[in-house]
Formats: sequence, structure tokens, C-alpha cells
Amino acid sequence: MKKLELHWQILIGMALGVLFALLMVQFDWGPKIVSDWIKPFGNIFINSLKLIAVPLILASLIKGVSDLKDISKLSKMGGRTIGIYIITTVIAVTIGLLVVNMVKPGSSISEDTRNELVENYKGDADNIKTAADKQKEAGPLQALEDLVPSNIFKAASDNGNMLQVIFFAIFFGIGLILIPEKTAEPVKKFFDGFNEVILKLIDIIMLAAPYGVFALLAALVVESPSLDLFQALAWYAFCVLLGLALMLCVYLLIAWIFTKTNPAFFMKGMSPAQLLAFSTSSSAATLPVTMERVEEHLGVEEEVTSFVLPIGATINMDGTSLYQAVAAVFIAQAFGMDLSISAQLGIIVTATLASIGSAAVPGAGMVMLVIVLAQAGIPEAGLALIFAVDRPLDMCRTVVNVSGDATVSMVVAKSVGKLGEPKVKNWDDNYQKE
Ligand code: ASP
Repeated sequence: MKKLELHWQILIGMALGVLFALLMVQFDWGPKIVSDWIKPFGNIFINSLKLIAVPLILASLIKGVSDLKDISKLSKMGGRTIGIYIITTVIAVTIGLLVVNMVKPGSSISEDTRNELVENYKGDADNIKTAADKQKEAGPLQALEDLVPSNIFKAASDNGNMLQVIFFAIFFGIGLILIPEKTAEPVKKFFDGFNEVILKLIDIIMLAAPYGVFALLAALVVESPSLDLFQALAWYAFCVLLGLALMLCVYLLIAWIFTKTNPAFFMKGMSPAQLLAFSTSSSAATLPVTMERVEEHLGVEEEVTSFVLPIGATINMDGTSLYQAVAAVFIAQAFGMDLSISAQLGIIVTATLASIGSAAVPGAGMVMLVIVLAQAGIPEAGLALIFAVDRPLDMCRTVVNVSGDATVSMVVAKSVGKLGEPKVKNWDDNYQKE
């Protein structure tokens, strides 16, 4: 019998996870069972994906850069990548602002609901503000300073910094280009082999994906706040979701115009990565799968994916920037503030920068939202308003973040002649195959 394709397996795992948790809650069979016995498997799954991310970036980026054989090629690709990333982020913020100004979800929030939400989530909002304060204190060149690690092992460790790992890998790759071919050869071969091992490990981890997402979603449903609060925030959530859906259409359009890629082909190729982004709320945890899908199913050569995707996972967060724009204006509306055109233009700049600065982990976008609010003079207490629905929206914006990275990698690949035929042509998944 033919095996079910991977994205169907993952979807079924997600649906069963939600159903299982709803039954547990409904019949009061003890949600604690989920936290104690199911959630750990979800965490193990996320951990194993994260475990792969740093070695994968190191091996594939070093290999990718050294394969370029020429520094000028590297700077050409780098310039295009960053340029297109910024353009897509600005488009995303603009879409967010247009939607939220048209629907005006904040004006439907009554004062009572507002007070109730602020009261309920005050503690959570304060925690976020504390995390954000650290970011706010940073000087203008802090981001640049943070790019260069003083210790590569620290950079790669648990609370490490992906950009620093990327910096080291590119720097190392440049070194490899500059030394004589004969000396560089064994080092390159080592990283080639290393890279292949890592890719095999991703295949193995993905065999567990349906079970992993079952556990993640079951735990999420058991721990999520009551439906009443969701209802109060339905218009706000609608705006974010509508904006994200529009942004996804923009990607399909971009891929179609610039690379002649059929939208169904794109979605089919990317769906396991998108579903994983949804289940984990983390572009960083999804990165290994994004890289594999873009390479094998969308036909982008490794030289490009190894460079464009890790950078994208770290700095290109279109879904996050769109959400930040909608959230900022929603909070302003809920507090009865009128935002001028210049304040909204300011939001385009700050949301773009804030999304670049957001870490690729769950909830990071909300921390950076504090900076957008502060710049626009919107009350930070408003964070408590949107807390109840943040997680589901985080799941959705992460899907857009990952899809954006994939789209840009295709456009960059096309522009440097590195978009080839996908290795997996029959639209079937290769995970089950040897
Ligand atoms: N969870 C998002 C990501 O990892 C970031 C965010 O918006 O919170 O891409």
C-alpha cells in the first residue's frame, strides 16, 4: 500500500492532538496527564530539531560559501538577499496597516472587556516588558557589535545567537576560499560529509513529525485560555490572519512572476515545513526542514539555500512585522488614540527593524512589539489586551515567516542562475524512500 504523504501525516497528527486534548478537557480526564505524559514528547521533538539547527548552519554555510569560490559572488548574493528581505518586510507591514485601518478591530472592544483583559494579563504583560527593556537599552551599534562572537562555542550554545554562528560560518568559508586549493580540499570534504549526515538526521527526525505535532498541539490546547476571551479579540485576530493570508498570496505571486513557479507546486513542496512552523511557532526549529524542502522540492541549489535560509530565519520575519503593525494600531484604537499618518509611517520603520531583531522562537515577536509601541507612544499596558490570542497568531505568523524565506531564496536563486529542477519531481515525499 502506498504510504500517506508526509504533510497528510502531519495534518492528521495535529487534528488528533487537538481532538485528544479537547476530550481530556471536556470529560475532565485530567489535563495534567497531557502535561506530564504527552507534552514531554513534543518538547523532545522540538529539541531534536533545534539540536540539528546549529550544526546544519555551520556545515552547510561553510560548504556553501566555499563552493562559491569567489568573494564577489558572495557579496552579490548577500546584497540581493538582504535587499529583497527588506522589501518583503516593508510590503508585509504595509499590508498589516491597510487591513487594520480598514477593519478597525480596536473600536469594537468595549471598555469593560479592555479592563478585564488588562487585569487578567497584567502579570504576563509585565514579564514581556522586562524582557523588552533589555533590548531598549541597547545603543545604536549594539546589533553590529552583537554580530561578532567572542567565543564560537558560546554563540552555538543553548542561549546562543544564530547570527553569530552565521557570521562565524561565513568568515570560515571565506578563509577556505582564500587558502590554496590543496589545503582546503580535505576541510571541504569533511564539511560535505558532515552536511550529509545532518541531512540524514533530519530525515530520521521527520519520521517522528506526526507524533511530535500531536503532542505539541495537545499540550497547547490543554493550556490555552478560555474561549470567551478569544471571542472578544476575534476581530483583531481576523485582521492578523487576513493580513497573513494576503502576504502568503504575495509570495505565491512573487514566486510565479520571478521564477515561473506554480503556486500549488510551491505550497505542496513547502507544506511539511509550514505545518511544522505552525506546530512549533519557531522558524529556528523549522529551519532544517525548510532547507531540505526548498532544496529537494523547489529546486534551489544548496549554495543558495545554505546562505539565504539561515539568514532569513533570523532576520526575515514578514509575518511578525505584519502582526506587530496590526497589534500596535489595534491597541491604539482600543485606547481611543488616533494615529497620524506620520505615526503610522513610523510604525513601518520600527516594525521592520523590530522584526529583524526578533529571535526565531515562540513569542519573540511580542517582546519586540514593546519597542514599536514605545516609539509610537502607544500605551504598553495594551500588551495585556492581545496576550490571550498571541499563541495561535504566533503559530500562523511563523508559517508566513518560513514561507517568506523560501520565496526569497527562490528569487535569489533564479537571479544567480541557481534554480534547477527539484530533486523530488513526482511530488511525493522522499522521507519514506531509501
Ligand atoms: N515565532 C516567530 C518565529 O519564530 C517569531 C515571532 O513572531 O514571535 O518566526
